[in-house]
This record gives sequence, C-alpha cells and structure tokens, in this order.
Amino acid sequence: MDCPKCAVGKLSEVIVRIQVPGTDRELTVDQCFTCQGVWFDANELETYLQEKLTVLNSGVLSDEALKELDYKVGKCPRCQIPMSKKRGPSKRRINVDYCEKCHGYWLDCTEVDRIEPGPSVMGMLEDFFGYLSTLTGGH
Ligand SMILES: [Zn+2]
Ligand SMILES: [Zn+2]
Repeated sequence: MDCPKCAVGKLSEVIVRIQVPGTDRELTVDQCFTCQGVWFDANELETYLQEKLTVLNSGVLSDEALKELDYKVGKCPRCQIPMSKKRGPSKRRINVDYCEKCHGYWLDCTEVDRIEPGPSVMGMLEDFFGYLSTLTGGH
C-alpha cells in the first residue's frame, strides 16, 4: 500500500506481539519507514491502546516536516479517499486522520508516541504491582 502522507513511502507490515499472560495475540499494523507514520485498520488502534502497548516508535523528523505532515490531508491507503481529522480514541488531545469508510486511523510520526499511555503510566503500574507484592509478603 502507498503511504497516505508522503509521496514516496510504501507501507510495510509491522507485527506487534501482545505479551499478556494467557494470550498470544499479534497485531499487524502498517508503517511507513519514510515518514514513520502508522496505519491502523479498524479496531487495531483500540486494541493497541487497550493493551497499553508502547512498542511502536516514531522516528526523528524535523518540526517543519512534522507540521507539514499534520497539515496534509491523508488519503486512505485502502479506500483511496481523503481522510478526515478526528480526535484520537485516547485521553490525549490529539487529532488523527480517520477514514469514514473503512474506519482505519493514520497516525503521523510523533502522534504514535503521544497517543501511547507513556512511560509514566507504565511506571505507575509497575510501582503498584510492586507495592502489591510487598503486601502479600512474597513467601
Ligand atoms: Zn510516509
Ligand atoms: Zn478507508
């Protein structure tokens, strides 16, 4: 598939392994290695956020390039129709590109990082579970 934002990029499959005890699931998303944006098919972004995954990393682009990408109206790589801007399905206030037809989401480079729960939340969870294990005594 062609990248919705940059003229030259192609989307490549990226396999995200969901490492939750008891489940062995994989999520396949598509990432453009030129502008580092990520395409999520319908429900994939919700799953990604639900599982609190932080495996996708944005690349380093100049602020200017990022602004340009954000401003640009993306074309859905599946339906080839212009996408609309929508609030991302997360508490973070970010706007993402959304396809009304196939319900897929496109996240520009840094939007991937910004929509993730972030290390602070993961740190809090780890602290919490660490605290729980001290309560149970550990032996
Ligand atoms: Zn691209
Ligand atoms: Zn679409």
